[in-house]
Amino acid sequence: MKRLIDPFGRSIDYLRLSVTDRCDLRCDYCMPRGFRDFEEPGDWLDFGEIERVIAAFGRLGTRRVRLTGGEPLVRRDLPKLAARLARLPGIEDLSLSTNATRLSRHARELRAAGISRINVSLDSLRPERFKQITQGRLDKVLSGLMAAKDAGFAPIKINMVVMAGVNDDEVVDMARFCIEHDFTLRFIETMPVGNTGRQASARYLDLAEVRSRLERHFELLPGVMPGGGPARYVRVAGTRLRIGFITPISQHFCETCNRVRLSVDGDIYLCLGQNDKVGLRPLLRAGASDEQLEQAIVGAIARKPQRHEFTEKPEQLLRFMSMTGG
Ligand code: SAM
Ligand code: SF4
Repeated sequence: MKRLIDPFGRSIDYLRLSVTDRCDLRCDYCMPRGFRDFEEPGDWLDFGEIERVIAAFGRLGTRRVRLTGGEPLVRRDLPKLAARLARLPGIEDLSLSTNATRLSRHARELRAAGISRINVSLDSLRPERFKQITQGRLDKVLSGLMAAKDAGFAPIKINMVVMAGVNDDEVVDMARFCIEHDFTLRFIETMPVGNTGRQASARYLDLAEVRSRLERHFELLPGVMPGGGPARYVRVAGTRLRIGFITPISQHFCETCNRVRLSVDGDIYLCLGQNDKVGLRPLLRAGASDEQLEQAIVGAIARKPQRHEFTEKPEQLLRFMSMTGG
């Protein structure tokens, strides 16, 4: 079986696929309020092009694909794309990251299409605060989450970006909410991606602090969670809750990085924290063969950098998180 191995010996078997850079929310650490400078629809990879690229990754050993964005459910007919990707040889796990605003409408269809796991961003359980952070409505997100639960998604993971003085007083409430609904909870440190991320980084909080706050309310036991991602997990004694800590800043996990990202316009981004990218769209539109496509992917992986430099060069990333899907 073929495998993609980068210059540092890491096996790259996971792809994050951004199906759109647009979003119906404006989380203030992610996208600027009035932002409109989106990719042109003519530059978006169409479903046939995406399928060709994912098939090539599958032949090269990619086993897991996550649909992300922007907000993936803003892309029309996303369940149809999901069904096409879920059928590709080699792709064993197709998952989705969403803000859940449109999930009530689409949860069942997505499940039937072959999406196995769902991650939902949720930074606050207080409607006013939620609106302040995202410009959106909490009730829509909560009904989307319940629809996902009814549709049988398990586990459902809640991703909470923790910001000092913004929502850090809700970490215990969020844990209780996840215990009540049998969700997994992950806390994320704010990253300086784009000027929005850099401004939000002023409210950066080391998750070690979150952990010690949780310890005042719960007994935390060592835990693991299948999935191969960067979160370090604990279990909460006496409950089914698992809590993951994603700490790109305080404890970077680049040595176990297993992923690259594909943007909606067909660029492979080799690291979330670096600018280097390899464009596949020109090849696709010039009639490249499957073999040429595979060669381009292998060539891209050979350029994967060793690590991000969020701490050393926080100013270096001009793009927003919504372009590469986190
Ligand atoms: N719209 C979907 C969502 O919100 O889940 C998928 C895309 S979103 C860019 C993916 C993840 O990136 C979300 O969990 C979001 O909280 C996270 N994110 C965005 N900007 C971030 C930042 N500056 N620092 C840390 N996480 C960020
Ligand atoms: Fe949209 Fe997700 Fe970015 Fe929030 S984090 S603005 S929901 S893409």
